Amino acid sequence: MLPYKSIEAAAAQLGRNLTYAETLWFNYSAEKSDGVLACHNILFVCLIFSVVPLPFVFIQLLRSPFFEKHKIQPKIQTPAAEIFNCYKDVMLNLLFVVGPLQLVSYPSVKAVGIHTGLPLPSVGEIAAQLLVYFVVEDYTTYWMHRFLHCKWGYEKIHKVHHHYTSPIAFAAPYLHWAEILILGIASFLGPAMVPGHVVTFWLWFVLRQMEALETHSGYDFPWSVTKCIPFYGGAEYHDYHHYVGGQSQSNFASVFTYCDYIYGTDKGYRYQKKALKKLREGVNGGEDGDGGFKSD
Ligand SMILES: [Zn+2]
Ligand SMILES: [Zn+2]
Repeated sequence: MLPYKSIEAAAAQLGRNLTYAETLWFNYSAEKSDGVLACHNILFVCLIFSVVPLPFVFIQLLRSPFFEKHKIQPKIQTPAAEIFNCYKDVMLNLLFVVGPLQLVSYPSVKAVGIHTGLPLPSVGEIAAQLLVYFVVEDYTTYWMHRFLHCKWGYEKIHKVHHHYTSPIAFAAPYLHWAEILILGIASFLGPAMVPGHVVTFWLWFVLRQMEALETHSGYDFPWSVTKCIPFYGGAEYHDYHHYVGGQSQSNFASVFTYCDYIYGTDKGYRYQKKALKKLREGVNGGEDGDGGFKSD
């Protein structure tokens, strides 16, 4: 809730007129409590999760050769009924695990200093904070994911996420409730270390979720804008982790590739990539040669 009675009072306090974005923010947030604003995240997460995967689902059901040539595991097609079941299961998780988690974690959001006031952060500040959040989360998730591939962690928790050996976008948050809690901690570490405005906090969860949905889409489109991001893993990179399954000791990172490179956990993936490239150049003339995993 903003401590100003009017836009004029806010302008007087800031010593300048409000920008257009700040006026919008004032009109939207002035009467809402900080707790309500922080918990908007669950609405955004549900909305993004319900909308962003739809083009990928449509593409898969369409089975057009134009798109199919970019399917990472072209031999595996997930039936429509299973896609719907995955959506239903994840929505239940979002509503009954992620939602309550957002509510109970509000005191932590407040304690670390995530704020709702004016002025709004600049684009540069938001970008710098998001970069920190992505790097911190990526590094933390790398080690948590490696831990979840130990015998106990895999059998008790992580096996749920590996149900899909050929991922679909809706399966990105298809997780055991304990993994949701574990990954929630990793997602909150960056904002806790470098707390910013609640708008940046929303944007962080939205972008991270969009990244996870694309990474699990099952398609590796050469025109994806994420191809321009340095050290970005992407769909083909993470798909390999699912393709190998529970035995996988490769490609643990969630967003970037540098952790797997530094700690040597991308060797299997690199070997497979090289072998498939040789096959494509030689014997098979472009066809996938090993169980249906395509690599560029
Ligand atoms: Zn895994
Ligand atoms: Zn995954």
